[in-house]
Amino acid sequence: MQSDIARVLIDRAAIAKRVEELGRLITADIARDGGNGPAEITLVPILTGSIVFVADLVRHLPIMAQIRLISVSSYPGAATASKDAHIREDLDTLPRSLRGAHVLVIDDILDSGRTLRLVTDLIREKEPATLRTCVLLRKRRPEAMEFSVDYTGFDIPDEFVVGFGLDYNDYYRNLPDIVTLRPEAIRRGLAQDHAKPGGAA
Ligand code: 5GP
Ligand code: MG
Repeated sequence: MQSDIARVLIDRAAIAKRVEELGRLITADIARDGGNGPAEITLVPILTGSIVFVADLVRHLPIMAQIRLISVSSYPGAATASKDAHIREDLDTLPRSLRGAHVLVIDDILDSGRTLRLVTDLIREKEPATLRTCVLLRKRRPEAMEFSVDYTGFDIPDEFVVGFGLDYNDYYRNLPDIVTLRPEAIRRGLAQDHAKPGGAA
């Protein structure tokens, strides 16, 4: 696995520092929303890519917090460009209503913006008190910049990255750093592509 890495874009220390900062920003905003009452947040991580990020982030939110999952399929198998994003309703643990809740949707990366648009449209129908979005990474490309996200960890070049939850063909999520892959690893993934229907991004 290590030999498949081409370049480390963001290392684990930089990620840890930034996640802590994001936690502080989010906590302050939610405290402000709560007014005089106790601050409470509903986190909605988008499966599967955001699991590592949310696991770290949630430990920097010293407030009452619930986690409700949602799953969006895109990137089937060994594809490196997202397409046909759709919500997998069989996998979500969202309540029917989110009335009064301060919701934060969390994703690993903002690329075309289709995934976040889909999820925020669905959540808006559940009438939360506030709805914000947070991504660890945002690609420097016009489509990503058009979507106005509330919290961004890092802006990165428009390259395919893996690690810290992000996958290629469902592998490499366990790499602690954000990295690019060597062309051989990408080719191997394409050759082995055993695209399971509906794999979660
Ligand atoms: P969007 O819907 O914004 O185009 O893409 C968002 C989703 O596509 C992310 O949740 C992520 O799963 C996947 N994605 C986009 N760019 C990358 C990338 O560079 N690497 C990986 N591993 N996944 C990506
Ligand atoms: Mg994802």
